[in-house]
Amino acid sequence: MVSTLSFIAILVLLVQTNCMEWAYGHNGNFHYQAGAEFLQLSGYRIGQSHEVLPSLKRYLQHFGYLDTVADTGISRVFDEDLEAAVKNYQLFFSLNATGILDTATVHQLIQPRCGVPDIIKDLAPAKFHRINVTRNSSSSHYSLRNKRWPPSSMRLLYNISENEHMPFPIADLRPVVREAFETWALYSPFDFTETSIDRIAQLHIGFYKRQHLNCPIPFAGPNDMLAHAFYPPSGKLHINADIIWAINPEILRNTENSYDVQSVALHEIGHLLGLGHSTVPEAIMYPSLDSQTRKVDLHGDDIAGINAMYDVLAD
Ligand SMILES: [Zn+2]
Ligand SMILES: [Zn+2]
Repeated sequence: MVSTLSFIAILVLLVQTNCMEWAYGHNGNFHYQAGAEFLQLSGYRIGQSHEVLPSLKRYLQHFGYLDTVADTGISRVFDEDLEAAVKNYQLFFSLNATGILDTATVHQLIQPRCGVPDIIKDLAPAKFHRINVTRNSSSSHYSLRNKRWPPSSMRLLYNISENEHMPFPIADLRPVVREAFETWALYSPFDFTETSIDRIAQLHIGFYKRQHLNCPIPFAGPNDMLAHAFYPPSGKLHINADIIWAINPEILRNTENSYDVQSVALHEIGHLLGLGHSTVPEAIMYPSLDSQTRKVDLHGDDIAGINAMYDVLAD
């Protein structure tokens, strides 16, 4: 199982309108497949040392749990800062917040997941950077960014870029992508329409390999991130064409280590609209996604999130 997990690519959604801002926060040595090596850290706690701890620290930095420091400043020691970061990580994933790398925590660490940080510290402005904001905060755990589409942009055009890397004919992809957009449209003021003219579209979706377009984050092959997307008003959603993709439940079931295009698109469109990650495991905006898993319906938490974000427009 471990070796399988280590090959499971990670759903990565970069959600930054400012590419350099992301590049700065992104540690160049961070490896998305850090997973399996973390098994060696089971039982580790404050005061101990291990050669894999620097990798864990980079991982926790990447996802926002640990302040970013220069790579040379990362030690092998399990210090107080790491303990605090582990506790926050455990809180996010509803684990016992002991600060100790127990079995449940290590298991969570090796799960395939989205690459967007869970904790976003860079944006303060009141209304749109908050977690657990609703009238019923006990059951809602979504997070919002302060990047959103203005009221004049509720009708959005999207374009699927046709290129040689597409894993399926565009005619087969279209209904899958449309379904993902319509799922969000059902619960939001948005209206999404496909256009074949890229330059008039606000949202741009495509399959790419390695270095692509002028994107600051290249894909690194089949063991790298699944995809990445950017917050409003960027509208860019890039899918890693080196991943094994499935376009319907049957292919997904029968193809080992495959990922469902619609499930990934649905999650990423949430970021395109301005949503961050949720702590609710069943939510579309939860950071982890397993291979051969289909998740195509919004959870109440996703709906609460999108409503909180765009209901405010009516104020
Ligand atoms: Zn995500
Ligand atoms: Zn890209």
